Amino acid sequence: MSGQNYKSALTKIAWGYVFLYLNINLGTVDILPAWGGMLLIFFALDGVAERESSAKLLKPFALILIATELIQWVMNILYVTVSWSWIEVVLGIISLYFHFQLLTNLADISERERSAYTAKLRFFRTAQTVLVTIATILDVEIITWESGILFIIIGALLLIMMIGLVITLFAYKNEPLFHLPIPGYVQSVLDELNDAGHEAFVVGGCVRDALRKAIPKDWDVCTSALPEETKGAFFHMKTIDTGLQHGTVTVLSSGNPVEVTTYRIDGEYLDGRHPENVEFTRSLPEDLARRDFTINAMAYHPSKGVIDLYHGRDDLQHGLIRCVGNPSKRFQEDALRIMRGLRFAAVLDFTVEAETAEAMHQQQERLSAISKERINVELCKLLMGEKADQILTEYIGILEHAAEGIQLPTRNLNHLPYLLPVRLAEVFPKDTATHLRNLRFDNDMIKKVAALAKLRNAPAPTDSLTDMLRFLEQYGEDVARLHYERAGEEKLASLEALLYQNPCYRIKDLAVSGADLMEVGLEAGPEMGHMLQYLLNQVIEQNIENDRQALLDLAKEAINHE
Ligand code: ATP
Ligand code: MG
Repeated sequence: MSGQNYKSALTKIAWGYVFLYLNINLGTVDILPAWGGMLLIFFALDGVAERESSAKLLKPFALILIATELIQWVMNILYVTVSWSWIEVVLGIISLYFHFQLLTNLADISERERSAYTAKLRFFRTAQTVLVTIATILDVEIITWESGILFIIIGALLLIMMIGLVITLFAYKNEPLFHLPIPGYVQSVLDELNDAGHEAFVVGGCVRDALRKAIPKDWDVCTSALPEETKGAFFHMKTIDTGLQHGTVTVLSSGNPVEVTTYRIDGEYLDGRHPENVEFTRSLPEDLARRDFTINAMAYHPSKGVIDLYHGRDDLQHGLIRCVGNPSKRFQEDALRIMRGLRFAAVLDFTVEAETAEAMHQQQERLSAISKERINVELCKLLMGEKADQILTEYIGILEHAAEGIQLPTRNLNHLPYLLPVRLAEVFPKDTATHLRNLRFDNDMIKKVAALAKLRNAPAPTDSLTDMLRFLEQYGEDVARLHYERAGEEKLASLEALLYQNPCYRIKDLAVSGADLMEVGLEAGPEMGHMLQYLLNQVIEQNIENDRQALLDLAKEAINHE
């Protein structure tokens, strides 16, 4: 081995091992663009690339690196010295393809896709490195020394660029991933807990909603602090022991209630409804693991970014409802999750991921053991969802286990207003009251829905004054409003215009009372009732104004007539 070759072989082996060690592979000076690419991926995976500004920065760097690597491969091809270095060329070009895919799409592709590309890239780069290392040990020159000098020059320029990039990226390291719009009163809850030495994150539905740019209904906080420690941290503020055994303390922060729950692991679910016991833990990942769906299993802290161990953001982006962990097991633990999953799909216009959907079907019978109150809550939310129709159609078989008597609506819910009683009337058209009572709806709701169900196939309401008054008389204002709105905005508008005038449609609205009628000679009793009803009919039929004197005259006339 010549002195020069020996030196170059040593250098190559040294490089090879350094980069292999760092999981950054290649054995020659042409490592630099590849190394740069790997470094970018490293940053990307580390979350730096997801900070908006650094993702923008990475893109031009990525393109320059890829262009440089491409030039090098062209040169490699020109300078190829032995036949088997073609293998290296092919391996390198395949790696380059994955590099290209990864680096040009860093900000846009999902984490799952990113990991898949990275794995392939790592495989081809490793194969390439092994080849180069073997060639080096066997003293087979893969590229000529002349081309090597050229690479050194390019490499030096790239090195300067890379140093600049690394410095810039580190400068962005502290930029939060996404800034979710946490209200001040929630931020102060996080701050108080942090100041007392505890971890605290907002978690669950609020993170999901904030990421999809919807306004969260409430902000839940999870913390490493035990309930007593939480109360200690808020000794100067009002706290309510909402569910100490489950770790929940409600803190009144500037008058707003914020639920703070200790990280916990749910014990075994023996009844398919409630965990046998709840175990507190100091580990956020353990708390996230007990949550139902990937989109609900994310936590956020302004200085730590989004903690997304189950690729919830990917699923949010792709509109997927996917269980955390094994779906069958999760539904066996708590079958309400089946209803929750369908509810989220209907409300968010998401699709249930295949494995999760299959497990829902497998475990559907468990729904009959779930408390009707909890089914009620989820079912109502589901029916009010944008995609309720589709979910009902696809999963009616499952829903029948949760809500006895539920049926596929015969008309498209999307053509109906967002009114719960109207929608319930569509899916419980028969034996409405029985089924709703079974689902623990209150009497007022049952009455309304039963009336609406009966009226489902009635002719559309007209805007004739008499018809409207008759309807009001028969069903009352609430059902009338619902029924008219179901028939269309204009129908509702006519009814509202009428109601605005305080029309007379009940006996108590008449301008005369029983006492008035006694004065003209009528006696209390059924007669009186009949007379009042007669007068009301005359007013509704518009034969007479609701005017005291006119009504009294009519009453007298009727008495004399008899
Ligand atoms: P919403 O917007 O309707 O309030 P949410 O996701 O916040 O939806 P909650 O019932 O308020 O739903 O629950 C808060 C969080 O608790 C959820 O996001 C989820 O992480 C977790 N969770 C709730 N119910 C279950 C369950 N049955 N199994 C596992 N995790 C659950
Ligand atoms: Mg919630």
